Amino acid sequence: MRSQPDATHSPQLRSWVAAANVPDTDFPIQNLPFGVMQRSRLEPPRLGVAIGDQIVDLSAWVQQGLLHDLPEKLKVACVADSLNPLMSLGRWASSALRRRLSHLLAVDSPLAHSAALLPMSAVTLHCPAQIGNYTDFYASIYHATNVGRLFRPEQPLLPNYKHVPIAYHGRASSIVVSGTSIYRPSGQRRPVTPGEGPTFGPSQRLDYEAEVGFLIGPGNRLGQPIPAWKAEQHLFGLCLVNDWSARDLQAWEYQPLGPFLGKSFATSLSPWVVTTDALIPFRCEALTRPPGDPPPLAYLLPAGDAIDLTIEVWLQSAQMQQQGIDPMLLSQAALAALYWTPTQMIAHHTSNGCNLQPGDLLASGTVSGAEPSSWGSLLELSQQGKQAITLPTGEQRKFLADGDRVTLRGYCKAPGAVRIGLGNCSSQIVPIAKRAAAIAI
Ligand code: CA
Repeated sequence: MRSQPDATHSPQLRSWVAAANVPDTDFPIQNLPFGVMQRSRLEPPRLGVAIGDQIVDLSAWVQQGLLHDLPEKLKVACVADSLNPLMSLGRWASSALRRRLSHLLAVDSPLAHSAALLPMSAVTLHCPAQIGNYTDFYASIYHATNVGRLFRPEQPLLPNYKHVPIAYHGRASSIVVSGTSIYRPSGQRRPVTPGEGPTFGPSQRLDYEAEVGFLIGPGNRLGQPIPAWKAEQHLFGLCLVNDWSARDLQAWEYQPLGPFLGKSFATSLSPWVVTTDALIPFRCEALTRPPGDPPPLAYLLPAGDAIDLTIEVWLQSAQMQQQGIDPMLLSQAALAALYWTPTQMIAHHTSNGCNLQPGDLLASGTVSGAEPSSWGSLLELSQQGKQAITLPTGEQRKFLADGDRVTLRGYCKAPGAVRIGLGNCSSQIVPIAKRAAAIAI
């Protein structure tokens, strides 16, 4: 049965942190996402909770006794340097912590104005978890069809797509937090003229992919699949993911074993994890399959809920930055239109006995919709480099140029609920020469 909103979701709830009550803030008191921050290089990273433009320092609050009535193992998880211990405890732990923090941050809290908070601008934010494994799905049927049509106009969607949640194993070591510069990768590029050989050099078709990440809470033992009806208990929360892609490297290498160096040079993550609890008011029915589509096999049922989340892509070139021109909205897409739900991704991933671990990242794949205004990659928007996008400066883009800044934004809205956001995932493309210079220094 679907979880119901409780007092922590009440639209009447307000915080003594003024910035948390501003309309359209990503981090009202109804959200309370978790992250990892560092106050200075002299101190270890510690857990934080975003509230408006401030951060709750969980270690400090534990030391001050503000969380004294919580179970001991939960308090131990709160003073860790990553979210993994909290993730491993299960939903009860993050739910109990959420309820306690909601109470302490509410406008009528006895603590009002007296508890220590850190301004978000004063800390460095890190990746929210130690991610041992990263799997990238391909769950948007619109994206799969758009990309398929570019390569196989006669059969855009492969026959397996409606039966099996397609994915590949990504690279966890090159996952970076939002704000980290992305160096343009070099690699073997597909021959431009048929009959010629490949060339090695900087990618000339660098792209982004707008995705949502599902971070795993408790894992499963090797050999013990997670049934679909239990899958949600293993989902800790959501963040934004930019699966950077070098299309010319990818096009040359992907057959027959799938993506490799065209994807593994970097994947960016937003720093705040919005919990499964915070998303309760924004759950919705999963996509209804059109008549004629095959029903999912039994192990992929019940499908679980979709999440009514909007993901946007914004682009700002170096010239736009220099001229003070705001980023340009490139696309806006609905996560609820995915063909496969997070429940089905977890059930499928573990169906062969594969073990998921706390902090593992399952990404949705590029989130695209039916209309071009919802297409979540330049590969789709430029139709594989055939149509240029014109920026406010008159510059044109088919793929990313050095100095471009790509920003993903994600948020949830629903009647009777306060809007919550996932924050930003924003990074700038840096030419490869800069990397050589940095190494020389
Ligand atoms: Ca992807």
